[in-house]
Amino acid sequence: MQRTLAILKPDCVRKNLVGKVLAHLQEAGFKIVAMKMVHLNAKTAGEFYAVHKQRPFFNDLVKFMTSGPCVPLVLEKENAIQDYRKTIGATDPAQADEGTVRKLYADSKEQNIVHGSDSPESAAYEIAHFFSNAELVDNFGA
Ligand code: ATP
Ligand code: MG
Repeated sequence: MQRTLAILKPDCVRKNLVGKVLAHLQEAGFKIVAMKMVHLNAKTAGEFYAVHKQRPFFNDLVKFMTSGPCVPLVLEKENAIQDYRKTIGATDPAQADEGTVRKLYADSKEQNIVHGSDSPESAAYEIAHFFSNAELVDNFGA
């Protein structure tokens, strides 16, 4: 069983799509093992996206991610990291496959509804960024 860190981004919350996206993820077989709603500030968003610090879109990304509350969650499934990225689709919704979360709900490459870890290393870093071990429940039988 593998875990990945997902975020329902501020555009997802603003557009009242939290329930729809959660349903989509649960129907795709992901178990929720942790979830909260937080409003990131420049420091916490910058630390989360530290790998993108040198990218031209970094400041806009931090601005967007601090523009309202978001919903980080830890999801569990066999092959969760890769399967989740398949379920959400490409970064740019225009390039995303039919039926993916971003194709269905995202407006643009930046305002793209959801985040997902891209490797076991980033999943470990990102999960620890938002959750303590005590906040990760055993939802295997749910
Ligand atoms: P995420 O990490 O959020 O799951 P991703 O892994 O598909 O998305 P990354 O390359 O890691 O894409 O970029 C992180 C985020 O930065 C994207 O989700 C998007 O919100 C934003 N972003 C990426 N590229 C651009 C760009 N060229 N212009 C504007 N925003 C961008
Ligand atoms: Mg990424």
